[in-house]
Amino acid sequence: MTKKEQLKKLNNQILKCHRCTLKLGCSNIVFGAGNPEAQIIFIGEAPGKKEDEIGVPFVGSSGRILDKMLASIKIKREEFYLTNICKCRPPENRDPLPEEVKECWPYLKKQIAIIQPKIIVTLGKYALNSFLPTAKISEVHGKIINVEIKKIGKIKLFPLHHPAAARINRKTKALFEEDFQKIPNLLKNKKEQ
Ligand code: SF4
Repeated sequence: MTKKEQLKKLNNQILKCHRCTLKLGCSNIVFGAGNPEAQIIFIGEAPGKKEDEIGVPFVGSSGRILDKMLASIKIKREEFYLTNICKCRPPENRDPLPEEVKECWPYLKKQIAIIQPKIIVTLGKYALNSFLPTAKISEVHGKIINVEIKKIGKIKLFPLHHPAAARINRKTKALFEEDFQKIPNLLKNKKEQ
């Protein structure tokens, strides 16, 4: 089975998921989008209002910031994959609860296992802490961290602030933009290895 077919199969499984109560309040399960062969996966927290309506990740205001940053480093849509740690929208855009993250984690893990990216870019503290529970985004943003994921193996994590946080705080925006500019070099280094 190709990676695309494996992701489709997983998506079909998730459509039937009721592991947590988030499913009750969402309009669409937002599985993920992008190239199944991508070298890089961006992982956010959970779908927002617009994402929930359309069923596609990062299409709202955070998505526009992300698009702008991706254009600034000349990374094309077909070069990456986008998803969230929780596939259903939390009510009123609240933060996902630890038990919701825990229930959805196996799906994210399967997506990573299928795509086998070289680099995982986490967006915001919830995505970071789903890999490294005690890490602080203020301390590790913009740094490569080697992590080992059970049954997947070693992978490089590159934590960034969430675009939504960058939107509301000028200092965070500057850090987010500065860190984002490091991505082309990370990809280049991986290709050369
Ligand atoms: S958030 Fe994840 S675990 Fe919860 S219902 Fe949706 S797909 Fe299932």
